[in-house]
Amino acid sequence: MNLEEITDLIIDIGQPKFRASQLFKWLQSGVQSFDEMSNIPLALRNKLSEIGYIATVKPIRKFVSQIDGTVKYVYELYDGELIESVLMKYEHGYTVCISTQVGCRMGCKFCASGLYGLTRNLTASEMLAQITYAQRDNNIRISNVVMMGMGEPLDNFENSIKFLKLVSDDNGLNIGLRHISLSTSGVVSGINKLADYNLPITLSISLHAPNDTIRSSTMPINNKWNIDALLKACKEYQNITTRRISFEYALIEGVNDSDNNAKELASRLKGIMCHVNLIPANPVKENSFKKPDRKSIIAFQKKLESYGITATIRRTLGADINASCGQLKKKTKEEIIDANIH
Ligand code: SAH
Ligand code: SF4
Repeated sequence: MNLEEITDLIIDIGQPKFRASQLFKWLQSGVQSFDEMSNIPLALRNKLSEIGYIATVKPIRKFVSQIDGTVKYVYELYDGELIESVLMKYEHGYTVCISTQVGCRMGCKFCASGLYGLTRNLTASEMLAQITYAQRDNNIRISNVVMMGMGEPLDNFENSIKFLKLVSDDNGLNIGLRHISLSTSGVVSGINKLADYNLPITLSISLHAPNDTIRSSTMPINNKWNIDALLKACKEYQNITTRRISFEYALIEGVNDSDNNAKELASRLKGIMCHVNLIPANPVKENSFKKPDRKSIIAFQKKLESYGITATIRRTLGADINASCGQLKKKTKEEIIDANIH
């Protein structure tokens, strides 16, 4: 709930208005129960727990990378569903990668999150709870958020917008929108709607291919909105927000990593103020995709730069703990199935 909604509730139950901002602050601090709200009278705490609940995430697995300290959590939600989150430490501070849905219905061939389809959307508070839990658990302040975990944020539009408002609220976590990236597989209707909000977030587009033949073979969404439609929406988005767009490009050996692919990609992106983020594809057991060797990845980057497109290679964090999209939840699910717990 945002402050207005909490205020309405507090007034409805006949309480003074100032209780609403107290309650809001507690919720944003990541408390797990109403009992922790020490400046709220016991009678009101009891009343609140009768009429409401606090969305919490319960860690059922936690992995800490021995290589770089990256922490990966598998969380259980109130209904037993599982999601995952990753905490990464960079020079400029801590970044958390959050999930926005349980599963995903976009079905990208290289991705572990979509293997079981979509189960349900996360609420804004379940997104927020992934941040507050990681903060409390590590006694840190998180400065950056990427919406790049499980799920397609623009397929859960209203909750994603509500989350962005809550997380940047200066009475709450106060994480500036400029420090938040939202990644989409290319839901054009969502990009258009998002443009109307004109938020200073970074929009990341999972492009992953320079032409429709390759993109349609790995990303079914391309059959609904092809690359032309997607890039048109990006240009319109940029006209409104004036923000640089980030394009994600997972390099898959023999699929999208040739010199010609780099040339074609550069020509498609001409005229868009952008940055390309090259991700060496992470192998997933269910498919045969491989990442190219380091030399080919660097060659691809150099080729793009020779055409005037800035490109960086994403550093691999948490390589020893399966820290990429959907991998760990899948593993945990398999373990749970194996162990016959459910
Ligand atoms: N659904 C959104 C956000 C979550 S996925 C989206 O697709 O953009 C976060 C990023 O990881 C996306 O760019 C996605 O394409 C990429 N990704 C998924 N599986 C991957 C894999 N096996 N190797 C490399 N990148 C992958
Ligand atoms: Fe969904 Fe993104 Fe994975 Fe595609 S890459 S299946 S959109 S989470």
